[in-house]
Amino acid sequence: MKKVTVAVDGPAGSGKSSVSRRVAVDLGLMYIDSGAIYRSITWYVLRRDGSVTPDFVFTGDIGELKIEQEFTGDGASLTSVNGVDVSVLIRDEVIARNIGIISDNVDVRNFVNVLLRKWTKSRSIIMDGRDIGSVVFPDADLKIYLDASVEVRAGRRMKEYLDLGKNVDENLIKKQIIQRDEQDRRRPYGALVRAHDAVYVDTSCMTMQQVIDHIKDLVLHIGQ
Ligand code: C5P
Repeated sequence: MKKVTVAVDGPAGSGKSSVSRRVAVDLGLMYIDSGAIYRSITWYVLRRDGSVTPDFVFTGDIGELKIEQEFTGDGASLTSVNGVDVSVLIRDEVIARNIGIISDNVDVRNFVNVLLRKWTKSRSIIMDGRDIGSVVFPDADLKIYLDASVEVRAGRRMKEYLDLGKNVDENLIKKQIIQRDEQDRRRPYGALVRAHDAVYVDTSCMTMQQVIDHIKDLVLHIGQ
């Protein structure tokens, strides 16, 4: 297969990450989780300041953070900040509550975009996020927009938390998803948009395997 860049965008809980990981494993691509980078910066700021406030500004120490991500090849990815493995810590619900201010910040977004582009110079990748097809890789070989209803997405997030041994209120998760959709769509920079040339896939009534197979077919088609 020739070198390909695949951008997968969509709202929280649409299945981007699980699907992209499986596609990456099956087709031998590198998977990059862009949301994990925004989560890592949120984790760092929370640890540094104790809270994220609306007057947040991008400071030099954030620009110097050494954020690394490794795709293990069995579908897992490890994210570290200055050598500290934050892969599990960044999945905490406190991160989701505070990430909006960080990911709305234009300096943060520019910093993350430079990092993401650097990681993908010489290999075939599949990357998921909100603005991958629209801003980070507007020339991606394949753009996919994954979607699902709020109810289906909330159910999936609940399961993720339960799998991590965390008990959370389903209504709270639904409320958070609606809020994050709003935040992701309304931000002035890097908003969640469906690129005009993205393939739209509504996964509400599809099994994960069906979505994976569909995307693999699309990737194989463009990689020929
Ligand atoms: O994909 P995930 O749910 O881990 O992303 C967490 C948050 O990071 C999103 O709600 C969004 O605010 C932000 N994000 C973003 N741009 C991306 C990826 C994630 O703003 N490319």
